[in-house]
Amino acid sequence: NSFDELGLSAELLRAVSEQGYSQPTPIQAQAIPVILDGRDVMGAAQTGTGKTAGFTLPLLQRLSALRPAQGAKPVRALVLTPTRELAAQVGDSVADYGKYLPLSSAVIFGGVNINPQTAALKRGVDILVATPGRLLDHANQRNVDLSKLEILVLDEADRMLDMGFIHDIRRVLKLLPAKRQNLLFSATFSDEIKALADGLLDQPVLVEV
Ligand code: AMP
Repeated sequence: NSFDELGLSAELLRAVSEQGYSQPTPIQAQAIPVILDGRDVMGAAQTGTGKTAGFTLPLLQRLSALRPAQGAKPVRALVLTPTRELAAQVGDSVADYGKYLPLSSAVIFGGVNINPQTAALKRGVDILVATPGRLLDHANQRNVDLSKLEILVLDEADRMLDMGFIHDIRRVLKLLPAKRQNLLFSATFSDEIKALADGLLDQPVLVEV
């Protein structure tokens, strides 16, 4: 049970070993190969299980394997989170694990000045970590192009629904291309989460710990 057997690139293995992780957690061992394969995933995982690295590592690898067309820089991966704290945490993980890869990222959430976020988006980012409301503000101001998105992650989807973000999430989904990889993580599976997952995920692999 080692990170070397999961199919991750040398750049990512180096970043992982610098974090001091010696072994993948169960959710990482299950999720990483499946996400690298391009499959949609329904992940049943609480925080503290290592789920962030479980989706961030393969996401980074998939983006680095295929370079997009030159020129305009549309967002390639979007991680939606319920809170600014979680967005900041996921953004830190993306930066830490991706430090040896030529990919850029930004974190955007509400309650702070929008202008620095706008400037970052205008420079172009490969990976965007965002809370739904502020993301829609940027989309409405045409600061961000989500039409070429390759990977969507809904992190802590149950908390996003509890916080009333379902309409915002559905608005964001309308901005995305039909063909993309979708990853949904949730600690609990209510009928509302199942309905969201049904509409979002294409033949998902269920990953549980
Ligand atoms: P998460 O569940 O993603 O919030 O991660 C919980 C904590 O586990 C974070 O502090 C991570 O840095 C840490 N972590 C993630 N993966 C591993 C691993 N394979 N070995 C040890 N710690 C890890």
